[in-house]
Amino acid sequence: MRILLGLGAIWVLLCLPALAQTVGQPLPAWTPGTLDIHQINTGKGNSALFLLPDGTTMLVDAGDGNHEPPRGTAPKPDASRPAGEWIARYVRHMLRHDATPAIDYAYLTHFHSDHMGAITEVARHIPFRALVDRGWPSYDYPAAQKGLAAYRAFAEAQSKAGVKVQRLVPGRNDQLVLKRAPAQYQNFEIRNIAANGEIWTGAGTNTRQHFPPIATLQPADYPSENMCSMAFRLSYGKFDFFSGGDMPGVRNEWAPIWNDVETPVAQVVGPVEAMILNHHGNRDSTNAFLLAALRPQVFLIPVWTSNHPGEDVWHRLMNTRIYPGPRDVFATGMLEGNRLVIGPSLDQLKSAQGHIVLRVAAGGETFQVIVLDDSAESFRVRSVHGPYTAR
Ligand SMILES: [Zn+2]
Repeated sequence: MRILLGLGAIWVLLCLPALAQTVGQPLPAWTPGTLDIHQINTGKGNSALFLLPDGTTMLVDAGDGNHEPPRGTAPKPDASRPAGEWIARYVRHMLRHDATPAIDYAYLTHFHSDHMGAITEVARHIPFRALVDRGWPSYDYPAAQKGLAAYRAFAEAQSKAGVKVQRLVPGRNDQLVLKRAPAQYQNFEIRNIAANGEIWTGAGTNTRQHFPPIATLQPADYPSENMCSMAFRLSYGKFDFFSGGDMPGVRNEWAPIWNDVETPVAQVVGPVEAMILNHHGNRDSTNAFLLAALRPQVFLIPVWTSNHPGEDVWHRLMNTRIYPGPRDVFATGMLEGNRLVIGPSLDQLKSAQGHIVLRVAAGGETFQVIVLDDSAESFRVRSVHGPYTAR
């Protein structure tokens, strides 16, 4: 009997490799069919590694913001290496199954330091196969991009070296694709939703321009860099994930309606299982319409300052009148300042510190959230949440 029980336990373990996350142990390796979304915490800005079901890799942002203490989060694991090198080392560890590790798509939501400042450093340590941004090759929307000279030189050098540099084309679902075995995962899609105010209509690959023609605006009223953020929706079976960069959705009363980018985006994205908060949950983001339309079960907050999230945003997130049902919120590194302003309500966070891994089981029916220790390169599991069921 005891032998039978032992065999049964071994059988269960063999059948559930992706569920064998153990607190205190390193994260088990990615396996084919699984979708991993890693929000990497360097304390310096945004970066997320997407390990797609066939092993295709995408890095969404590589930030290295220049934060002034005491607003900023501490560098993680520590200050001994630049953020870009930590990101590349994290990626290499997670791609240890791959004999020729590379980033298939390096994707920059927009041109701010906390999203792109570490991109050249990452490329020094792991090769890119494609680079996707909102400006290539002219970098002239809404006006000539001053301050982008170093990045443009980098993008041009990448292009000369054979990297496929391209501008995101809103509406399309055939630009960011599985590169290894797409036929095996026909229920996988990345739909480009928005860039530079051009937003998918929800029909075919059609788009419309949400911003007025630039010629009709004064330079002071041009769309901001955040408004121009690129956005996509990733779908794997029933599982959907939204990423919208730093797009705003809460405008000043005197500002034109088109300064709200979230509302027209939310109209076409629809319900998702999980999302990264727009603009780190800054007070100008995450409006009630977006929350009601997307109604995620899981939120990721990449934090680097004490208004991530804004107090109003936090209370909207947790408000079950906006949409019913449970929602779990995970932050990469909550600051004491946020706790002082928001108060004990912030203790509802499922996790306040660490790398956040969404691990979606093969087929996209269920997923877990796994928080990893970010104080060293141990990749140890701190907590496991779920499984959640995709709807
Ligand atoms: Zn940002």
